[in-house]
Amino acid sequence: MYTLLIINPRAGPAQSERKRKELLELVSNTPDILPRFTDHPGQAEQLAAWACDQGFERIIAAGGDGTINEVINGIGSKKIPVGIIPLGTGNVLAHELRIPINHVARALEIIEHGRIKEIDVGYAGSRRFLLMAGLGFDAAVVDDVLPKMKDLLGKTAYVPAVVRKLFTYTPSRFRIAAAGCEEVYETIAYAVVIANCGTYAGSLRISDEAVMDDGLLDVIIFEASMGGTAQFVGALLKTLLQIKTGKQSVTHFKCTRVRIDSDPPVKMQLDGTVSGWSGMEITVEPRGVRLIVP
Ligand SMILES: [Mg+2]
Repeated sequence: MYTLLIINPRAGPAQSERKRKELLELVSNTPDILPRFTDHPGQAEQLAAWACDQGFERIIAAGGDGTINEVINGIGSKKIPVGIIPLGTGNVLAHELRIPINHVARALEIIEHGRIKEIDVGYAGSRRFLLMAGLGFDAAVVDDVLPKMKDLLGKTAYVPAVVRKLFTYTPSRFRIAAAGCEEVYETIAYAVVIANCGTYAGSLRISDEAVMDDGLLDVIIFEASMGGTAQFVGALLKTLLQIKTGKQSVTHFKCTRVRIDSDPPVKMQLDGTVSGWSGMEITVEPRGVRLIVP
């Protein structure tokens, strides 16, 4: 099958370099797989669009969640199947889909012999996402982590950023209006996460209910009424660690379309990459993307 292999040479920790070499070796005698390296942000998106124009039948994204996000934006409405070789820092999507993380040969085998799963794709305006759109605190943390620190420290690079933001972040007034919902939430919140899947970071889960092919988005609101930043982080950890004790400190509902405004405006992250601001309509296209899974 005529396949474009898009490799992000900067994705993930230092060990990823060895895995990229292994990958190149594995595909070196497979003439129908064409490897291409990216050399700047946004190029995986351009290469994916080019692959569709050129009539490639399959794309393999070798990188992290950011690389996969670029690829699904590049293919647009084309239903070309996308395989994943997880070589990033978090590899959240690979966790969710049970694609082996530290085993390039097995991940490649899954692409050759796996099945196709159609999953929902979220839209923030015209930008697509597969995992989540996060507005507020978590986008501020993502924005604070230097790519160099991420290369050096991996996931732990986020810890000092979380701590820094804990002392400086002030919540915003949000207006959250969901389609088909009588209620409009007007609340002061630290963060609003619109999840397409239950896995949030690493193997932490933000929702046990979020499913990638139910045609619905899960909206999770971390309200400031719970108290200061310490209480917010407590609520976030309780949610991520699935601790269900005490009073419910987050609001959670499902919808197909939600408009999110905030005052002052807050940054937004899509699949772990900062991308624009609040003042955005977020929608879902059911089963809009075809991924190759075990
Ligand atoms: Mg869903």
